[in-house]
Amino acid sequence: MILAIDQGTTGTTCLVVDGEGDLVGRGYREFSQHFPRPGWVEHDAAEIWEVTRRVALEACDDAGIAPADLQAIGITNQRETVCAWDPATGEPLHRAIVWQDRRTAAMCARLREAGHEQLIRERTGLVLDPYFSGTKIAWLLEHAPELRERAERGTAVFGTIDSWLLFRLTGEHVTDPSNASRTMLYGLEAGDWDDELCALLGVPLRALPEVRPSIGGFGTVRPGVLGDATCPVGGVAGDQQAALYGQACLDPGEGKNTYGTGSFVLLNAGDAPPAEHEGLLRTVGWQIGQRRMFAYEASVFATGAAVQWLRDGLGIISSAAETEPLADSLEGNDGVYLVPAFAGLGAPHWDPYARGTITGLTRGTTRAHLARATLEAIGFQTLDAVRAMESVAAQPLRVLKADGGATANRWLMRFQADLLGVPVVVPAIHETTALGAAFMAGVGVGRWNQREVTRTWRAATTYEPTMSRDRAEELHAGWRDAVGRSLGQAR
Ligand code: ADP
Repeated sequence: MILAIDQGTTGTTCLVVDGEGDLVGRGYREFSQHFPRPGWVEHDAAEIWEVTRRVALEACDDAGIAPADLQAIGITNQRETVCAWDPATGEPLHRAIVWQDRRTAAMCARLREAGHEQLIRERTGLVLDPYFSGTKIAWLLEHAPELRERAERGTAVFGTIDSWLLFRLTGEHVTDPSNASRTMLYGLEAGDWDDELCALLGVPLRALPEVRPSIGGFGTVRPGVLGDATCPVGGVAGDQQAALYGQACLDPGEGKNTYGTGSFVLLNAGDAPPAEHEGLLRTVGWQIGQRRMFAYEASVFATGAAVQWLRDGLGIISSAAETEPLADSLEGNDGVYLVPAFAGLGAPHWDPYARGTITGLTRGTTRAHLARATLEAIGFQTLDAVRAMESVAAQPLRVLKADGGATANRWLMRFQADLLGVPVVVPAIHETTALGAAFMAGVGVGRWNQREVTRTWRAATTYEPTMSRDRAEELHAGWRDAVGRSLGQAR
């Protein structure tokens, strides 16, 4: 029995998977989102740990097992989100700054003006954007009381969510390369923290976790932390890299898109650091032994988040699933477009100053139009990300492997196939991210070998395109016009 913990932006999912790779138990809970100022997003790290612990126990319960029956744990997590804590007590020293948070946009602009952009691109594979952890850690060091002195003395440490959960579970301060490669502090070629970048952002090396291979040993769960569990943590990876693994994209040229809070298209780029490419990120997929697999990535910040905004911000739907009949109730979009640039725009625009925009409103616009425009925006943003990815792929896309919460929306999946002009395939188990973490943990403790993992992947639903290419192009032109209006607003 393997427990997979998927600590996401909206909530934590836990799965219990048996030796055959079959799902035997699950649990899910949401936790609080904090928006202290426009453009800021925070989580309470203590709440994340507490919710995660409860969901893990509930998943064991659901599987009818005791935590002591677990043979391994795999962890996957929302990436780039930064926590600071006291290594003696495990107490958080500040709210976690979430990946969507834009508070370091001005810091990024200063680094750009000072001419550091190219160094960061080359060394880390990332673009200079507030999305990544490095400037968030620098912000904490500057603004949280006493944090700089404490970090230098060793009484405060930093980590992404994987490190935070690992610390609570095992007491060790560690991370893996897929998470480290999202911090802007990790050298993609060198495979470790980069002294020059740490110095540039003023981050003391001793406050960062040790980087260990994603598949292998991360320590053992301390007694009493998770019921009576005492098993090892055998796999750790960022959510998008875990989804790439869970979608069985183990060979170069294979890729997927995950529809969660944001959307992330990743393409396996082989076992050497790939060449730079405009608009795309380069990142570590995972490391097993000394071998690292790399990926190209196109990141879109707000897709499912826009559906949440309809529900929680506007209150015009009571559940995400309601968007499906609403969108379906209209013949077309009647010229209404919604660009959910709440946190700026990621790939392929990379504009931290873009803001949300609705165009084409008339007196006849209803909530159905907004629901439809929100789903269409998910489709358009994914289309733009896939097109950017195709510019590095050896061949044009033949099918899109899709996963994540919003793949439950059939209208969206059909619209996506129509826009792309190729089939969209959703696997039998929707929680591909968590499954990826379970597979990694299973391989990490020697239960499975890597090829056994790919054999368990099965397609459940295939959505075929039916729209004419002319119509798809026309809709895309309307979208591009709306995006043009959203750029640069918060500058
Ligand atoms: P994460 O891992 O980022 O927390 P999940 O993969 O759990 O995300 O997916 C949750 C997201 O999917 C939420 O943002 C939610 O709004 C969206 N979502 C869930 N169900 C639907 C649906 N039926 N239609 C559209 N969006 C949905």
